[in-house]
Amino acid sequence: MADMCQSCGMPMKQGPAGGGTDTDGTKSAEFCSYCYADGAFLAPDITAAEMQQIGIDAMKEKGLPRPIGWLLTRNVPRLSRWRSKS
Ligand SMILES: [Zn+2]
Repeated sequence: MADMCQSCGMPMKQGPAGGGTDTDGTKSAEFCSYCYADGAFLAPDITAAEMQQIGIDAMKEKGLPRPIGWLLTRNVPRLSRWRSKS
């Protein structure tokens, strides 16, 4: 199981369910419950840059300065969800 969601980069154990679900209801080893449910991405048309921006905004709401949010999300484009299509 990956340590981080391979879509948004969030630590997997931070998600409420500890991971997204596949079509048969088993836990996804790669994607968190915010990104993935019932075998499909919740935001199928999103780009890596948009995902990174969402992460930065979410962290800003928690009081983290924008440069820190950027630092923590800069690996998003390298996660496996985004690597396959380029
Ligand atoms: Zn995720």
